[in-house]
Amino acid sequence: MKTITILGSTGSIGTQSLEIAKKHKFKVKALAAHSNTDLLAGQVKEFGAEYACIFCEDKVNALKEALNNEDVTVLSGMEGLKAIAELDGVDIMINSVVGMVGLEPTLTAIAHGTDIALANKETLVAGGELVIRAASEKGVKIYPVDSEHSAIFQCLQGNKREQVSKILLTASGGPFFGKTRNELEGVTVDQALSHPNWSMGRKITIDSATLMNKGLEFIEAMWLFGLRPDQIEIIVHRESVIHSAVEYNDHSVIAQMGVPDMKIPIQYALLYPDRVDCPTKELSLTDYGRLTFAKPDFETFECLSACIKAVTAGGTMPAMVNGANEAAVAAFLDGKIDFLDIGRIVTSVLDEFESKPVTCLDDVLEADRTARAYAEKQINR
Ligand code: NDP
Ligand code: MG
Repeated sequence: MKTITILGSTGSIGTQSLEIAKKHKFKVKALAAHSNTDLLAGQVKEFGAEYACIFCEDKVNALKEALNNEDVTVLSGMEGLKAIAELDGVDIMINSVVGMVGLEPTLTAIAHGTDIALANKETLVAGGELVIRAASEKGVKIYPVDSEHSAIFQCLQGNKREQVSKILLTASGGPFFGKTRNELEGVTVDQALSHPNWSMGRKITIDSATLMNKGLEFIEAMWLFGLRPDQIEIIVHRESVIHSAVEYNDHSVIAQMGVPDMKIPIQYALLYPDRVDCPTKELSLTDYGRLTFAKPDFETFECLSACIKAVTAGGTMPAMVNGANEAAVAAFLDGKIDFLDIGRIVTSVLDEFESKPVTCLDDVLEADRTARAYAEKQINR
């Protein structure tokens, strides 16, 4: 029986992780959320967690009330997340918070020697250098949860990493595939939130509509698998059946397929290398009939190009582009800016700032703060 903790247990990945935990009778030691006290308290009671963390300090009393005097240690804020990340006796911590707020707890878990199932891609985008270096020094395993990265990880099994020639990173194309910039003027939040294949949290759904998500995944893949930018080809594959593929030196391409359901990669990350029954549908290729592939439109979806430029510049630039995007997406969801403004703001970071080397956590946090402040100015212009 595995013992797990989940940061971000009330979200899309968090709740699906708990489904997997229930099926395999994991012990759930600690759960954390941002502000959803009712759902968090319900999960803590159902799974008998010993620790509950609510990030928003002003929700602590509400959480205690909702827990109804259960014998649970209540934590809050970044200190609470980090305290969970260094609990003893945990086999794997699932990091499924949204945003680069997940970076510090990830580094804390690594320092403590706890393996991580990582859904929180912003962590690797902003602090990939720090995370991968620390994990390799400590011998800590990072299991990818993101479906594409899980697919790549699966396609690497039993083969030699140094014989990989490139990876094929698939993208659904999001709700606005095939649209021109003119057609994207004035699209609404609801339109941007209607993803064709996946049901996910609001931030990643907007990232999928701008293709920022694929840019973040490009950077995430470089860090996870030690790849150069020229070793990653992005392919739009509308059906989200092939979750990504790896090409080897002999031109053999190995792909991973399945229905678009995050429970498959979540379970693989938690049970690696075991493959046992997963509460998902089987894939029927004949129901699909055909699978399609296209090149991405880098001009219309400028966030994608911005991410590739940022990671090519290296240093703090990916953290800056990510920070600006987090601010811009929140502003779009709040109705403060238009859809196309997200790409404009993210891209302008590249012109406005120079990349600096990343030597420690503060370099990343400072870059993130600077980029957010810059984005806020653009938003409130
Ligand atoms: P959701 O918005 O559905 O959930 C986010 C979770 O994180 C919630 O539990 C939220 O709590 C919690 N949270 C947010 N901020 C904090 C904080 N500061 N401290 C503690 N908890 C916090 O997001 P998703 O589950 O969709 O995505 C999570 C991550 O996984 C993202 O990085 C995303 O890119 C990645 N991912 C998601 C996929 C998906 O299918 N959903 C696929 C691949 C990757 P509360 O409910 O209280 O707000
Ligand atoms: Mg993905």
